[in-house]
Amino acid sequence: MSDFSSLNAALEQRRNNSLYRQRRLLESAQAAEVVIDGKPCINFCSNDYLGLANHPAVVTAFQQAANDYGVGSGASHLVCGHGQCHQQLEEELAAFTGRDRALLFSTGYMANLAVISTLLGKKDFVFEDKLNHASLIDGGLLSAARFQRYLHNDMDSLEKKLARAGEGRKLIVVDGVFSMDGDLAPLPALSALAEKYQAWLMVDDAHGIGVLGDSGAGCAEHFSLDQQQLPIVMATLGKAFGSFGAFVAGSEVLIESLIQFARPYIYTTALPPAVAAASLASLKLIRDDGGQRERLRHAISHFKQGAQALGLPLMVSDTAIQPLLIGSSEQAVSLSEQLAERGVLVGAIRPPTVAVNTARLRITLSAAHSEAQLQQLLAALAEVLA
Ligand SMILES: *Cc1c(COP(=O)(O)O)cnc(C)c1O
Repeated sequence: MSDFSSLNAALEQRRNNSLYRQRRLLESAQAAEVVIDGKPCINFCSNDYLGLANHPAVVTAFQQAANDYGVGSGASHLVCGHGQCHQQLEEELAAFTGRDRALLFSTGYMANLAVISTLLGKKDFVFEDKLNHASLIDGGLLSAARFQRYLHNDMDSLEKKLARAGEGRKLIVVDGVFSMDGDLAPLPALSALAEKYQAWLMVDDAHGIGVLGDSGAGCAEHFSLDQQQLPIVMATLGKAFGSFGAFVAGSEVLIESLIQFARPYIYTTALPPAVAAASLASLKLIRDDGGQRERLRHAISHFKQGAQALGLPLMVSDTAIQPLLIGSSEQAVSLSEQLAERGVLVGAIRPPTVAVNTARLRITLSAAHSEAQLQQLLAALAEVLA
């Protein structure tokens, strides 16, 4: 057992099944056009939906805060790492989402672990959509609650499970926008079921925040659900915000319970203050200027119309996530490589991220894409899928 040769079989199997993952080397800033593995490409796989990751105002806010506060936060929030930038961002995020309070986390993954494991123990129940993000699944497992996965967006399937659950706390958890499919959770119906069965409702709005709703406040704003109707909102700052980190927004008692009891909150170093300052600059751009959201909507409809005209295998999505269903992992990888040869970067998403035989090309659109770039994408897709 002194070497790692016992791990080789699993690596070999992954390679043979076209499931091996490889990291591409990014040699430029995150933007609509990037240099990857030495080659210029148009980028259709980033989550930087609004083009803020390299926005001058966001970069400047980061630089100024680094000058004022240095780089490292030095400690966890409960020791001495909670600074003015964090505090101000939390207050602005609470106001933005229309919730009592917001709490920053270092990553979305940790926020999800934190919420689910703090609210539930082994006598309780967690109800999760089959297509939920891995971090929500892992949060459910960490909590040790009884785990119920219901069919994707199927309210009858969920209600049957809710009705059968016994005594104990109940938490329904969903992605607001499903990350590999791009469709929305039916939050008003989920909220009604949560009320009927006295369950809590939590949404992971990683792909909705900044993008959905008139002011970009996400799926809660899109569906006009207040804190009573949608009591737990988690969202990330590494996608449309173009920054890094995550937050949970909700009632005073929810947030205070997370501060006191959530281990993924307590036992980790606070975000660098400059990262919080950058997120604050993004928040102002998102809230005060709907222009980027408008450009993104335009890019989505332009792409969908073009893809429909070409007869491409679009899925049911009106969001920036526009997957093309391929099926075989091998074929998805081959198509992604052929697109890369044409200077178009699109990820091949394979099991276990998605179900077996549902490998797909996951195209993500951004406000930063020009019409010419969208045309190039469509032309390349027409060539490789024809
Ligand atoms: C990206 C993502 C996360 C994780 O957020 P990080 O801040 O990157 O850890 C959680 N949930 C969903 C749905 C995501 O897409």
